[in-house]
Amino acid sequence: MKIQLEHIPCDLCGCETYTVRYRKPDTWLRINQFEFPIVECTQCQLVYLNPRPTQESMGAYYPKDYHEDRNDDGFKARYKIQQDYLPALSNQVILDIGCARGDFLNFLKEQYPALRTIGVDYFSDKVSYDFVEFHQCVLPEAPIAPHSVDIATAWAVFEHLHTPGDYFKKVSEVLKPGGTFVFLVTNSESLYGRKAYVEDIPRHTYHFSEHSLKQYAEKFGFKYTKCSYEKRLWDPTGRGTYLYKLLFMFGFTWEKWYLKKNIPFQKLIAKIGRKIDNFVFRTHWEADKRASGIIIVEFTKK
Ligand SMILES: [Zn+2]
Repeated sequence: MKIQLEHIPCDLCGCETYTVRYRKPDTWLRINQFEFPIVECTQCQLVYLNPRPTQESMGAYYPKDYHEDRNDDGFKARYKIQQDYLPALSNQVILDIGCARGDFLNFLKEQYPALRTIGVDYFSDKVSYDFVEFHQCVLPEAPIAPHSVDIATAWAVFEHLHTPGDYFKKVSEVLKPGGTFVFLVTNSESLYGRKAYVEDIPRHTYHFSEHSLKQYAEKFGFKYTKCSYEKRLWDPTGRGTYLYKLLFMFGFTWEKWYLKKNIPFQKLIAKIGRKIDNFVFRTHWEADKRASGIIIVEFTKK
């Protein structure tokens, strides 16, 4: 398959220089062998994929059903947790960025019928609920009136974007002064993000942190108000850190992985690595130390 890559400057500060943190191929779909560099900006420390597939080529990395089926019981439990991070609801205007079929908005509307709900999703052709004002487009192109939204929210969306700055800018434009933006992203400064190879490469194009998000907030007219180290949504631990540490120590490479060439005693080494991981990460000590892999951040529009 022909994939086009593009080499880009930092989305946050425009700087062109970086250091490479690590490289990793697509280990989920195995589309090709290329090991994408995950780089850190030398100026602002934003972590991102560079080079990355162009927006057009990115489609190859998302299977057709990637964005489907989000209304089962598993998702409802997740929505309940997400709701914990939102302000008290009553009759506000709420915008869900990357709303899929609108199931999270429906979950909220069932409890608060006076809410006005807006959904934006580039990948959905429709939502399942008539009451959702839906726009199928990327957020920066959505026809939402300036200063018309009380609460904006985005769950595991921003790490997938090609231009996160344009999204922060748009959220800042549509929120009312004092409005709230709550979003979940992965944490580049965790073991999850640095050592355990959990980031979904190349689908996760940006890996944020408290440090980089404070700079985004400042740049686009927000107050950075809160950061929570969530441990109930996905596994935010560094599980995998010891597995890969041992494998690489004994000669494992991603090239060998792709070509299915095992290193000597690979199974045994992997088993020991997993045992250590299971022991070290059996509790959520990283979340308690504010260093785990999933963060939920709140910005307030100035
Ligand atoms: Zn930068």
